Amino acid sequence: MTQSHTYTPKNIALVAHDHKKQDLINWVKIHRKLLGRHQIICTGTTGSLVEQVLHSKQQENSSKNLVKLKSGPLGGDQQLGAYICENKVDLLIFFWDPMEPHPHDVDVKALLRIAVLYNIPFACNESSADFLISSPLVESDYAIKQMDFTNYLSRQLTSE
Ligand code: PGA
Repeated sequence: MTQSHTYTPKNIALVAHDHKKQDLINWVKIHRKLLGRHQIICTGTTGSLVEQVLHSKQQENSSKNLVKLKSGPLGGDQQLGAYICENKVDLLIFFWDPMEPHPHDVDVKALLRIAVLYNIPFACNESSADFLISSPLVESDYAIKQMDFTNYLSRQLTSE
């Protein structure tokens, strides 16, 4: 039986650094029923792994809605930041590895800054992800309050 939604499905972004990918996959397996009811956006390599879990044969009822961006170090985190600017992300789950330097650390920093700027709920470790995904707001309509940028946009600058 198909479940009827009384809310608009969310755009949930999932990303994991290499040493955290297995943890994310285990987490996706736990939450696959819920995740299957939403639109999933991933960086490239994470997306290929998540796809195998969400779109396996046993999950025929799951949503086929999964967008794979470029791999993180090749610009995927920046693409995700652009999605946030365009209001295309409602929730960001990033299994982040605090023990390794990464070539795209600055991109990740930029992504998290944009997530804060646009007031996107995000989790950077597993227990935060558990708290976030178990919120009743995930399956209700929730309008993210946007910061007022009017003063910034109307600031006086001269071209001289
Ligand atoms: P990946 O990118 O999913 O393509 O590995 C994740 C990351 O930002 O490291």
